[in-house]
Amino acid sequence: MTIRRDGKDREIVFVCDVGTCPTEFTLNDSSFNLTWAAAKREGWETKKMGSGQNAAWLHACPGCML
Ligand SMILES: [Zn+2]
Repeated sequence: MTIRRDGKDREIVFVCDVGTCPTEFTLNDSSFNLTWAAAKREGWETKKMGSGQNAAWLHACPGCML
Protein backbone atom coordinates (compact mmCIF):
# COMPACT_ATOMS: atom_id res chain seq x y z
CA MET A 1 0.00 0.00 0.00
CA THR A 2 1.44 3.26 -1.04
CA ILE A 3 -0.49 6.18 0.30
CA ARG A 4 0.99 9.61 0.75
CA ARG A 5 -0.44 12.50 2.60
CA ASP A 6 0.63 15.69 0.92
CA GLY A 7 0.18 19.34 1.63
CA LYS A 8 -1.10 21.31 4.54
CA ASP A 9 -4.49 19.58 4.49
CA ARG A 10 -2.95 16.08 4.53
CA GLU A 11 -4.53 15.13 1.23
CA ILE A 12 -4.60 11.43 0.37
CA VAL A 13 -2.53 10.43 -2.67
CA PHE A 14 -2.58 6.85 -3.99
CA VAL A 15 0.58 5.75 -5.80
CA CYS A 16 0.59 2.75 -8.15
CA ASP A 17 2.62 -0.12 -6.66
CA VAL A 18 3.29 -1.98 -9.91
CA GLY A 19 6.95 -1.92 -10.95
CA THR A 20 8.19 1.61 -11.45
CA CYS A 21 4.82 2.96 -12.57
CA PRO A 22 4.67 6.62 -11.50
CA THR A 23 0.88 7.01 -11.73
CA GLU A 24 -0.77 8.81 -8.84
CA PHE A 25 -4.37 9.56 -7.96
CA THR A 26 -5.68 12.23 -5.64
CA LEU A 27 -8.79 14.29 -5.06
CA ASN A 28 -6.83 16.74 -2.93
CA ASP A 29 -9.03 15.60 -0.07
CA SER A 30 -8.02 14.16 3.30
CA SER A 31 -10.76 11.48 3.29
CA PHE A 32 -9.42 7.99 2.54
CA ASN A 33 -12.87 6.58 1.80
CA LEU A 34 -13.83 9.41 -0.55
CA THR A 35 -10.54 9.24 -2.42
CA TRP A 36 -10.55 5.46 -2.73
CA ALA A 37 -14.18 5.39 -3.95
CA ALA A 38 -13.25 7.83 -6.69
CA ALA A 39 -10.11 5.88 -7.57
CA LYS A 40 -12.14 2.68 -7.94
CA ARG A 41 -14.49 4.46 -10.34
CA GLU A 42 -11.41 5.37 -12.40
CA GLY A 43 -10.41 1.69 -12.55
CA TRP A 44 -7.87 1.45 -9.74
CA GLU A 45 -7.60 -1.96 -8.08
CA THR A 46 -6.33 -3.22 -4.76
CA LYS A 47 -5.12 -6.67 -3.76
CA LYS A 48 -4.15 -8.04 -0.36
CA MET A 49 -0.76 -9.74 -0.30
CA GLY A 50 0.19 -12.02 2.56
CA SER A 51 -1.73 -12.39 5.81
CA GLY A 52 -1.70 -11.44 9.45
CA GLN A 53 0.81 -8.80 10.49
CA ASN A 54 2.69 -9.20 7.19
CA ALA A 55 -0.34 -8.36 5.07
CA ALA A 56 0.08 -5.53 2.66
CA TRP A 57 -2.31 -3.89 0.25
CA LEU A 58 -1.07 -3.23 -3.27
CA HIS A 59 -2.65 -0.55 -5.40
CA ALA A 60 -2.65 -0.63 -9.18
CA CYS A 61 -3.64 2.14 -11.55
CA PRO A 62 -6.02 1.49 -14.49
CA GLY A 63 -3.03 0.98 -16.79
CA CYS A 64 -1.54 -1.85 -14.73
CA MET A 65 -2.76 -5.34 -13.87
CA LEU A 66 -2.48 -6.99 -10.48
ZN1 LIG B 1 0.39 1.66 -12.72
